[in-house]
Amino acid sequence: MNNSEQPRQNPTRELTPFERMFVQPIPPPTPPIQPRRIRRAPTNGQSEIIPTPFVWATNRRATVQSFDYLLENKIFYITGDVQCKRCDKTYQISFDVRYKFPEIAQFIAENRHTMNDRATIWMNPRLSRCENCNQENCVKPVIADKKKSINWLFLLLGQMLGCCTLEQLKYFCKHTNNHRTGAKYRLLYITYLGLCKQLDPNGPFNV
Ligand SMILES: [Zn+2]
Repeated sequence: MNNSEQPRQNPTRELTPFERMFVQPIPPPTPPIQPRRIRRAPTNGQSEIIPTPFVWATNRRATVQSFDYLLENKIFYITGDVQCKRCDKTYQISFDVRYKFPEIAQFIAENRHTMNDRATIWMNPRLSRCENCNQENCVKPVIADKKKSINWLFLLLGQMLGCCTLEQLKYFCKHTNNHRTGAKYRLLYITYLGLCKQLDPNGPFNV
């Protein structure tokens, strides 16, 4: 016989006022979550609008002005920083968009059907000769640490986008609504064609 057994409490009996003080109130039902109607770009809390980093860029991330806009506004020389890998000197060079863009556009129009959506040809950019030490193939672009300040048009015109890291190319693709996965030659291809399309929206640059 077990005398220590406590008498069972009847679970349905009324609680005493003292017991009620310890009872948690039942929370009201949470309203159902409404589906969001606003489609947001995947910005991780960053604004898509940025201070315009160059006169040839727009105030949207990874976006440059159109070729027509540049011509109308007489923005011909696209300048950027470079650094020599041999002598370390940093200086600026510029490309004339009036000649460089049609050259690249024509190359893409003529060759894209054999490129298999890959920018293999642009993977290892041919660098220019250093104006200081006169060595060949040693002047690399200085690419901004802050991705919103990357000089995309300068890199395109110098055919130096291959100097970008995979992460920088992913940033371009992300903010221009393209696929963001894949090998570097694939992202590089999307970046080349994406920039050309920004310059000439009616050109043969869809990816
Ligand atoms: Zn040098």
